[in-house]
Amino acid sequence: MTTIGTGRATAHHERLVDGYSAHNYHPLPVVVAEAAGAWVTDVEGRRYLDCLAGYSALNFGHGHPALVAAAHRQLDRVTLTSRAFGNDQLGPFCAELAALVGKQQVLPMNTGAEAVESGLKVARKWGYEVKGVPEDRARIVVAAGGFHGRTISIVSFSTDPDARGGFGPFTPGFDVVPYGDPHALRAAITPDTVAVLIEPVQGEAGVVVPPAGYLAAVREICDRAGVLFVADEVQSGLGRTGHVLATRGAGVDADVYLLGKALGGGIVPLSAVVADAAVLGVLRPGQHGSTFGGNPLACAVGRAVIELLSDTGPRGMLAAAARLGEVAADRLAALVGHGVVAVRRSGLWAGIDVDPRLGSGRDVAERLVSRGVLVKDTHGSTIRLSPPLVVTDDEVALAVDALAGVLAELR
Ligand SMILES: *Cc1c(COP(=O)(O)O)cnc(C)c1O
Repeated sequence: MTTIGTGRATAHHERLVDGYSAHNYHPLPVVVAEAAGAWVTDVEGRRYLDCLAGYSALNFGHGHPALVAAAHRQLDRVTLTSRAFGNDQLGPFCAELAALVGKQQVLPMNTGAEAVESGLKVARKWGYEVKGVPEDRARIVVAAGGFHGRTISIVSFSTDPDARGGFGPFTPGFDVVPYGDPHALRAAITPDTVAVLIEPVQGEAGVVVPPAGYLAAVREICDRAGVLFVADEVQSGLGRTGHVLATRGAGVDADVYLLGKALGGGIVPLSAVVADAAVLGVLRPGQHGSTFGGNPLACAVGRAVIELLSDTGPRGMLAAAARLGEVAADRLAALVGHGVVAVRRSGLWAGIDVDPRLGSGRDVAERLVSRGVLVKDTHGSTIRLSPPLVVTDDEVALAVDALAGVLAELR
């Protein structure tokens, strides 16, 4: 590409990142300086439609006025107390999130990976103390192709060679089954199984939506076996699929919800494990914690996020996601057979498999940059489209038209 990454300011920033930051990412050649709503502006003054939205951490767009106002207010009051003392945002945040999710208790953490780790720890402890699994025997069933974060225990059950390679020895106690296959799941459960951990829609895998009835089957299998259904809704939750929770959208209730990304409104890292007291109650003082978990700044922003999603809030956010998703689906359907092999979608979240003969997902993403649209490729020739839920119909059309243009160029 000759039109991108050529500006002096961009080159300057890329040199610094190349020279001084660990090379654990391969970013597109765009260096963002500011952003508002669904749009970002780079250091050259060029504007782009953000169709990644921070992997759904920016579901409400960049700088949503209600979220920024909540952050500003709290910045001037108090930002960190540690859990050694109380703060006046923690209790309301937990109560409001519990109500939104329909569970009794909340364990606040910071990143998605921490929510997952915490969920795994709680599930194991629940297995020993409540289910009666013999010490150190607990097993957790997970799905192939999933993504749950980057800690050693989490990559221990990753099926992505890049995520695992060179990071062993791994944490034992996980059984991996194919995603979307209830028979394989049922067969993997043993008397020592304490939990099933899955994403209701596999995000990083390329927006892989399970077959109809799968989540209900997981629920039933967990009920019969007396194991916890742990739903990793770090990416699928909080509006992306047109529902507060993707599982609820499918009419299913998990035992444990893992939330992150959008919970912090794209402003602060904020994650949570949400479950009933019969599960989270296994944690007693000193057994788990986090210096920043439950800090008042994050809780204040989280409360504003919950308000955006709740019935008493400005409404419309969830309905908009569902409706905009239909708009995207109609336009994307027209591309199938014209450079697109398949489209998977849930709400305003689409995984698009480009014909591999045309190029990699990375090639497509790079060409979209020069058309003013930011997306992220996943494996192979797949790209995902997940703009903030505040985009307009015209902006969705702009993104899909840009993709059509790129595909025409590549053909
Ligand atoms: C992003 C993600 C995580 C990890 O979140 P981090 O904040 O990056 O640690 C966990 N689970 C799912 C489903 C995710 O998409």
